Amino acid sequence: MTRTDLNFEVFYNIVNGERRSSDKTTFSVDPSTESKLWDVPVASPQDVEDAVRSANEAFKGWSVTPFEDRINKLAQWRDIYTPFVEDFTNLLMAECGKPYAAASGEANEILALFKHNLELRMPEERIEDETRIQTTRHVPVGVVAAICPWNFPMVLSVGKIIPALLTGCTIIVKPSPFTPYSALKMVELAQQIFPPGVVQVIGGDDSIGPALVNHPNINKIAFTGSSATGKRIMASAAGTLKRVTLELGGNDPAIIYPDVDIEKTAPEVVHGCFVFTGQVCVATKRVYIHGSIYDSFLKAMVDAASQLVVGKAADPSTTMGPMQNRMQYEKVRELIKDSQVQGYKFALPPRSIASDKGFYLAPSIVDNPPPTSRIVVEEQFGPIVPVLKWTNEADVIASANGTSSGLGASVWSGDAARAERVARLMQAGSVFVNSWAKTTPRAMLSGHKESGLGGEWGSTGFLEYCNTQVVHVFK
Ligand code: NAD
Repeated sequence: MTRTDLNFEVFYNIVNGERRSSDKTTFSVDPSTESKLWDVPVASPQDVEDAVRSANEAFKGWSVTPFEDRINKLAQWRDIYTPFVEDFTNLLMAECGKPYAAASGEANEILALFKHNLELRMPEERIEDETRIQTTRHVPVGVVAAICPWNFPMVLSVGKIIPALLTGCTIIVKPSPFTPYSALKMVELAQQIFPPGVVQVIGGDDSIGPALVNHPNINKIAFTGSSATGKRIMASAAGTLKRVTLELGGNDPAIIYPDVDIEKTAPEVVHGCFVFTGQVCVATKRVYIHGSIYDSFLKAMVDAASQLVVGKAADPSTTMGPMQNRMQYEKVRELIKDSQVQGYKFALPPRSIASDKGFYLAPSIVDNPPPTSRIVVEEQFGPIVPVLKWTNEADVIASANGTSSGLGASVWSGDAARAERVARLMQAGSVFVNSWAKTTPRAMLSGHKESGLGGEWGSTGFLEYCNTQVVHVFK
């Protein structure tokens, strides 16, 4: 495939192997400038119907395609993607407002997703006794709809497509209306490799997600997004008893012990709070610092956060880009305002950013607000973080676990064994010791409590695209 075969200025839905436009179009804006990005088609109800029909038709052949052939096809998709990594990086910078390093990190993470998944094999268990041989195997669940959020539009769509196709499912991707571009283009690219209907994408407006969730001929919803939407999806999916994987919101605590190296640890913790402007499901959203180092650790955090350079994604000096969209920007501004109105002390006050356009917010740190305050209890999903003081280990563990969220957590201590002991007491799907949340395709990502149901990635995440079947052969 040559570079000219993929036009990064024109975007289509992909239905039954075809590029589809629409009478109705929409567009997103570049969060750095608020300037209009490219038009994208709004999928019609007919597009949804056609995609579901095509996915069901394609499932008949794809589900019985030998596993090694499916692996080979996925490897071919990886190979034709590789020369476009830089183009997708540029797309992510424009649609997400990610500075180059973050956008390039996401585009390259796709290669890591391929690498991990292509090493997986379908497990089969065979048990034999005097009367029977029983084989436990995993069969593809059918047609999957992947409903995706705006913060990692590539990783969180391709991270669903690859395991779905690997297991023999077919998949329809629905990107977030805020960030449709990279997912549309990635699925368009995939048409070079896969038969029609195996992987499709339909984007547009807010009607498409519910239409897919309610559709009787879709077997599974793989969803990443907010807990509120996840609950709605689970309720709707009950009507047809669809399988659901729900990757939802978090309110991740970081517990800081008094024996940490303050100068080394504080900047790392700050990075974990403000990575991609705090718009990461597993960003640190509450920091619990031991009272004996509270002042010095907080000062080191303020020093580190003050050095973040807020600006346009395309500016090479930028280390923290804008918020991705106006809705989230206003939501976080409202939370900042609430902390100000309540009279909470800011260790790092929110400084205004001189720019007429763009969804810019400078990082801010709230100094020991009440544990019941909104900034502690709610998922902020933006560059403001509360810092709280602790003295008793049992109490801080209870506080860290004391929300309805259970996505990620981190524990920081010079004593790694102690930190691991406490990590194991966290009610969260991913716990990091002496690190912010560095996720990897090799590890399952899952939420406890209201942060999700099931999970994806790792050596077992792909089995969530399967039903389990036991074949009993009697002797
Ligand atoms: P969102 O819930 O608003 O939207 C996610 C997707 O769901 C979008 O594509 C949207 O169009 C669609 N949608 C909305 N209502 C729907 C409905 N009723 N039926 C079907 N689809 C519907 O979430 P968001 O604002 O895009 O993403 C941010 C949230 O996602 C944060 O809470 C974040 O923590 C969470 N998130 C979780 C993970 C994880 O792995 N657990 C990863 C990234 C983001």
